[in-house]
Amino acid sequence: MHNQTQPMTASPRMPPIVNSNVAVIHELPPLPYEFTALEPIISEKTLKIHYGKHHQGYVDQLNKLVSGSDFAAMSLEQIIFATANKSEYEHIFDNAAQVWNHTFFWHSLKPQGGGDATDVLQPMIEASFGDMKSMQREMLTAATAQFGSGWVWLAMDRNQLKIVKTGNAGNVLTKGLVPLLVIDVWEHAYYLDFQNRRADYVTGVLDKLINWDFATENLQRV
Ligand code: MN
Repeated sequence: MHNQTQPMTASPRMPPIVNSNVAVIHELPPLPYEFTALEPIISEKTLKIHYGKHHQGYVDQLNKLVSGSDFAAMSLEQIIFATANKSEYEHIFDNAAQVWNHTFFWHSLKPQGGGDATDVLQPMIEASFGDMKSMQREMLTAATAQFGSGWVWLAMDRNQLKIVKTGNAGNVLTKGLVPLLVIDVWEHAYYLDFQNRRADYVTGVLDKLINWDFATENLQRV
C-alpha cells in the first residue's frame, strides 16, 4: 500500500547513528496516489504544486544544506533529532522536518477516506475525546487557532490520544510523541482551492480524506 523508498517510521526514539561516511542523498518519496485522487478537496493543481514544487523544494534545499557537513551521512530522522531546538541548525531542521512532515501528510490522506475510524482506534478516540465528532471538532479548533503556518497532529502521548499543533516546520517526534496523522495548514496546502477558508479545507480533509488505516498502522510504533 505504501509505495515509498524509505520506511515511514514514526518512532519518537532517537534513531541509531549510521556508522558510515557515505553521504545520504535525500529523495522525494513517490506520492501514494494520482494527482487527481484527492479532488475536489485538494485539486490536481494544488497537489502538483504542493508535492512537485514545495515538497521537492525542501528535499533539494536539505541536500544542499547538509552536503559536506556533519549531517551528510545521517538519515532524515537522525537529522531532525540532531538539529531540533538548536538555533544554529534551524535552517537544516526546518527543511528536514518539512520533508518528513509532507511525506507523513501524503500518507495521512487517501481517496475516499474519512468516515469511521478502525475498530482498533474507535474505542481509543472515545476514551480520549468522548466521540469522533468531538475529536474532529478539537482538530478543527487547533487548525484554525494555529496562527500562520503549521501542522495539526493526532498523536499518542504515552497511552492517550492528543491533538497537538506545531508552528512552521514543527514536528511532534521531537516532543516524544508518536504521530498517527497530520494535516498541513500552511496556506500553500489550500489557498488555490479554498483561499482564506482554512476551516472548510480542514473539514473537507477530516470528512473525505483522512486515512484511518495509516493512523492505525502507526499505533505499532507506540
Ligand atoms: Mn505543505
